[in-house]
Amino acid sequence: MDNSEKVDCCKHGLMDYALVCQHLVNQSTDHHPIEYFDADDENEPGRSEVGNVWCKSCDDMLLSQGDWNEVAAAFAAPKIVCVACLKEIKARNINGKL
Ligand SMILES: [Zn+2]
Ligand SMILES: [Zn+2]
Repeated sequence: MDNSEKVDCCKHGLMDYALVCQHLVNQSTDHHPIEYFDADDENEPGRSEVGNVWCKSCDDMLLSQGDWNEVAAAFAAPKIVCVACLKEIKARNINGKL
């Protein structure tokens, strides 16, 4: 684990980061909860190349593409968020379970 990779979050300060699909990151605060999928949840620790957490639309894209190929990755366009922000994102959505 490389702990030198941190993000300077405007809300939480210097934190570990996670990669989260753009749809979850760009949610407005009054959105409807959506399902998310967490690569670190039950599988081996470690990140997929596209990030730790993605939403249902990304998962549908992933299934239709069969892999995190360029198309699926471009659709997810994962953003770096701090782990505290990720917790908030998870708290306002539904764990879809892989
Ligand atoms: Zn997404
Ligand atoms: Zn944060």
